[in-house]
Amino acid sequence: MTRIARFSESGRTRAGVVVGDEVADAGNLDLLVASQEERARIAADAPRLPLDAVRLEAPVARPAKILAVGLNYRDHAEEVGLDLPKVPMIFNKQSTSIAGPFDAIHLPRVSDKLDYEGELAFVIGRRCRHVPLERAREVIAGYTVCNDVSVRDWQMRVPTFTMGKSFDTHCPLGPWIATGDEVDPHALEIRTWVNGELRQSSNTRQLIFDCFELVAHLTEAFTLEPGDVISTGTPSGVGSGMKPRQYLKSGDVVRIEIEGIGAIENTVVEEPDTALL
Ligand code: MG
Repeated sequence: MTRIARFSESGRTRAGVVVGDEVADAGNLDLLVASQEERARIAADAPRLPLDAVRLEAPVARPAKILAVGLNYRDHAEEVGLDLPKVPMIFNKQSTSIAGPFDAIHLPRVSDKLDYEGELAFVIGRRCRHVPLERAREVIAGYTVCNDVSVRDWQMRVPTFTMGKSFDTHCPLGPWIATGDEVDPHALEIRTWVNGELRQSSNTRQLIFDCFELVAHLTEAFTLEPGDVISTGTPSGVGSGMKPRQYLKSGDVVRIEIEGIGAIENTVVEEPDTALL
């Protein structure tokens, strides 16, 4: 398994291969489409920096697509009392919602119904269309951790999720992309904590539509490209499913960990008082 990352240090952002508690500097190389041999060469030969001396960024800066799946865990479907979907419920998050694995999540000015969703995401490594199920693993570059942050009132008050799922900073991703065939994406423990309290604890074997089925389904309709991110849905235990409901507040810390991949940890802050025009 190789861990490919993006990181900033001395004011420059670049790609890297994580080796133990260090990152090997790959400069501007596009590690998503690089061969396994090239990645191994970087890991062996490139200059290294300690991980705690760099800032890890989202492993994909600006995906052309961020797609997500609603209601894709058996335990979550039971939690919200809905029948299991027969077709994947696909929605998109805007690419501007990307945040780093340890960046702040904004509590919006316009809502206090902020919620977390711990998710396994996969990243596409090859341009593809009409991918048969049995070849889907070939187009996946690797796996990462996503928080599909959701603004519940904005998500639910209209028929499409787009705006409620796409606020700035509401797609923390990372800490890196775990590549390689050693990762079995469908047998991984996934857990979410809020301020140290365990809220979600499941396993990706609970997925209704697995990563390979999602690739086959999506590419029946459109081309997937390197860097596209597909987040596979969340298990039970979201704040809006608790009784009483527990929305995120400023200062809350959300940690999501997936076995064999890593963890992201994001603190909720009030949306800064800035405007762009
Ligand atoms: Mg979700």
